[in-house]
Amino acid sequence: MTAGVLFSHPACLEHDPTLLAPGHPEAPGRLRALESELGRREWPGWDFRLAPPAGAEQLELVHSAAHVRGVAELCARGGGALDADTPVIAESFRAAQHAAGAACAMVRTLLAGEAPVCFCAIRPPGHHAEPERAMGFCLFNNVAIAAELAIRELGARRVFILDWDVHHGNGTAEAFRARADVLFASIHQWPFYPGTGALEDAGSGDGEGFTINLPVPAGSTGPQWLALLERVVLPAAVAFAPELVLVSAGFDAHAADPLADMRVTEDGFRELARRCRSLSDRVGAVLEGGYELETLPGLVDAALDGFKS
Ligand SMILES: [Zn+2]
Repeated sequence: MTAGVLFSHPACLEHDPTLLAPGHPEAPGRLRALESELGRREWPGWDFRLAPPAGAEQLELVHSAAHVRGVAELCARGGGALDADTPVIAESFRAAQHAAGAACAMVRTLLAGEAPVCFCAIRPPGHHAEPERAMGFCLFNNVAIAAELAIRELGARRVFILDWDVHHGNGTAEAFRARADVLFASIHQWPFYPGTGALEDAGSGDGEGFTINLPVPAGSTGPQWLALLERVVLPAAVAFAPELVLVSAGFDAHAADPLADMRVTEDGFRELARRCRSLSDRVGAVLEGGYELETLPGLVDAALDGFKS
């Protein structure tokens, strides 16, 4: 068994929102920064694998056929705006297919016992994408698709998803809000975009109690995030006994990030990752946000270090 597998694909570089929205933060330079720092060192200690593209049958595990078709058709026409923050170009659909495909390959690898931990260095990100719509830089919900694949096709009965991106993972929350087989926990800046994720929203119907929203004020630090993880999230996750742990790993809770106001450090991300790894021998993380290009590689490197420990 290998120590860890890292999935990515060059197609993820070709989705370029800055061509329609100059200065857009979710730009190819994010992945290029990771590749020039970590790829140059051959992703130290990780087996690199090319991510396959997800087909419609995988995307439709979470999204409506109308949504998948709508994104494909807009890109085929050359692109446009899926929402005010989410421009796409012709190449964006293929990038999103490989991003979701990476997440699918990741859970196949984990559940086959080939590796205890995987990381997807992908874009566009996914956690704001709801079943019926793209939003907030996200086309398809990579982590939600991975969780559904694990449950519906690979035999997993309980999946825990932690979303440590600084924004609430509204798309993932919506996909599973009425489900008792997916425990979803999110720590996020509050009040903040996208406005969902209130403390009192604990899911609904059969899923009541299987959503944990932990909104935190601007200026919160890594030790505060870790305390919430240790005292609230991890006890719930241990009681849930997940067969698979997935992480929406955004890095926009770092102090230097231009979009948010948190103060989680490299050590903070390392410790968040270490705690996730302590939960399970099947841990998979997908890249979500993180927009400050000088610091992003060091933050991802620290998380990779934590996941492997
Ligand atoms: Zn974010």
